[in-house]
Amino acid sequence: MRLSTAIVAGAALLALASCGKKQEAAAPQALTAATVDGAAIVNADQHPGLWLSYGRTYSEQHYSPLKKIDASNVGQLGLAWYADLDANRGMESSPLVVDGVMYVTSAWSIVYALDAKTGERKWTFDPKVDKARGQKACCDVVNRGVAIWKGKVYVGTIDGRLIALDAATGKPVWEKVTVDQSKPYTITGAPRVIKGKVLIGQGGAEYGVRGYMTAYDAETGDQIWRFYMAPNPEKKPDGAVSDKIFADKANATWDDKGEWTEAGGGGTPWDAIVYDPDLDIVYIGTGNGSPWNRRLRSPSGGDNLFLSSIVALKPDTGEYVWHYQTTPGESWDYTATQPIILADIKFGDTVRKVLMQAPKNGFFYVLDRATGELISADAFQDINWATGVDMKTGRPIENPAARYQEPFLTIPGPLGAHNWHPMAYSPDTGLVYIPAHTIPSLYADMQNFEYRPGFWNTGTDFSAGALPTEPKARAAALAGLEGQLVAWDPVARKPKWVHKYPADPWNGGILATAGGLVFEGALDTRFRAFDAATGDVKWEIDTQYPALSGPVSYEIDGVQYIATTAGWGTSLPLSGDFALPKLGSPDNGRVLVYKIGGTATLPPYDTFPPDPTPPAADFGSQQMVEHGKDVFFRNCMVCHGESAKSGGITPDLRWTMIAASKDDWKDIVVDGKYAHSGMAGFKGGISPPDAEAIRAYVIARAHEDASRAAQPDAPPK
Ligand code: CA
Repeated sequence: MRLSTAIVAGAALLALASCGKKQEAAAPQALTAATVDGAAIVNADQHPGLWLSYGRTYSEQHYSPLKKIDASNVGQLGLAWYADLDANRGMESSPLVVDGVMYVTSAWSIVYALDAKTGERKWTFDPKVDKARGQKACCDVVNRGVAIWKGKVYVGTIDGRLIALDAATGKPVWEKVTVDQSKPYTITGAPRVIKGKVLIGQGGAEYGVRGYMTAYDAETGDQIWRFYMAPNPEKKPDGAVSDKIFADKANATWDDKGEWTEAGGGGTPWDAIVYDPDLDIVYIGTGNGSPWNRRLRSPSGGDNLFLSSIVALKPDTGEYVWHYQTTPGESWDYTATQPIILADIKFGDTVRKVLMQAPKNGFFYVLDRATGELISADAFQDINWATGVDMKTGRPIENPAARYQEPFLTIPGPLGAHNWHPMAYSPDTGLVYIPAHTIPSLYADMQNFEYRPGFWNTGTDFSAGALPTEPKARAAALAGLEGQLVAWDPVARKPKWVHKYPADPWNGGILATAGGLVFEGALDTRFRAFDAATGDVKWEIDTQYPALSGPVSYEIDGVQYIATTAGWGTSLPLSGDFALPKLGSPDNGRVLVYKIGGTATLPPYDTFPPDPTPPAADFGSQQMVEHGKDVFFRNCMVCHGESAKSGGITPDLRWTMIAASKDDWKDIVVDGKYAHSGMAGFKGGISPPDAEAIRAYVIARAHEDASRAAQPDAPPK
């Protein structure tokens, strides 16, 4: 039926042309998944009711021209429909919408096509990722979405594949393995299609990999080019398009020796891929060093190109155009792979083509995107690792203590002042809306670092900075945590307004609309609409789980919809178990869609408090507990929480495994008894005695909390 509609529409256009009428006078042809191409994405404003690419357009402003929902009626916004998905881990996916169909992903890289008006499922594609891969995913087994191009839907999988699906049926058309799957690579980002090429990067630099961007032919999946972001381990040519710039410039910024030669160096470009069709340049944001700690990675120092950089390339060939490194010689997991926005902005009398980014390091950068020239760089929150950026050299003015030769409480910590959550730009207000977080972290130099292939290899010791578990001390330590929605004026170089989320960092991605609103979900499980000019809260609703993805807007039959996705997980709630607003339910991730007058309701929300009486009595010597804590922080903390109670996402270790015998525990932790459900064994990384020490630490934590449960001081959250 859709095909015949397209044929009729095409015939009508031909008829118009043969009548001698100007073709541009005709209304834009209705788009279907089959007709989404570069021209459609470039001219997305002709189809304001659709959402065709991750940030809607190539410039990725996360701005919708729709304005039926505005400050006057947003108070009547209600749930139109919701759809439960098939995975219960973190949700970071922004849906795409074309021809009445929503394409969205969940954790474990599962793709869904839903009726965008009703939520009814049309098809599901599960790439059947080996769940043991979850151990290699630093920041949960999330996925940020798909790309659509000429009848195909593209998804990157957590185990490193790029898969093209038939948009009509969800059946695979081609599949390419984009990484060495024996190494701890993961893909969480949405692919982008530019000039018939699918671009995809990867993550994994916490574990030890070498980052790169690859372009594949959208039709066939054939590889077209690859650009590495860290040197060849022997500084030899790879036969890749990046060879020349490494020989000319980048290799010299790395020590010939150092842990990077084993750990891959990092630079994994796991998120931002943004394209300017006029300049014909694609901009890639790159990740942190591997290992993080430069003293270990490149002992004689050096900037270590292209870590933590924005790299500009020609999309046809991958040829280098320019780069700007936000954090030279990075040592803190300060990626610059955060979302990038392109805009044309008037500074005085001059309109400049700029690129804007708020990477983890806390500075807001405005660059001339034709040349890479730095226009401005200003801290968008209070940070202490650097005091500013030297505008002559473009380099940060570092606080020497921040390189943690002695332990140093650094702001921001590895989760950054801003992470993957999409920021938005409104051409109406001229403001950039940044989901910012204040999450300090104590970094310490790891003296006894030993590279362990496939495991966590940062060279930075966090155990010294563990949050206290005693409630009052813990509350005091957590008081410094905060989320902010910063409405940044890139011309005035300061915030226009800031909405604060006290004690709730990790607020979500942002949608700006022509209705004068910005939408954002937060860790407090509320989804809000703000007045884009003033920051006044105009509407809010309970989402049950945090809705942290970049929301989108679309229109069908004259009705404007606001859509987002919600779930338990993503990196902060996974590792910072203080961040869980309430005990999780094992329900699945969800798509939530709102419209004016929507009356749908969510099912009741069940919480399940853990049993407060851990049964095991014996838990080893204090020395064993201390050693267990150290091993826990090196191996387990990221997924099981800094106090071993990551309830609701991964098992709350204090209770669920507490009754496990020494042998059960070893079977699970070392030998991978539960690998099928995402808990891979750590053989080669954790010895049986170390596993037993972890058990002692976890039991000790359980007893600590249980003995406190009878006391009046309830934990702060
Ligand atoms: Ca990282």
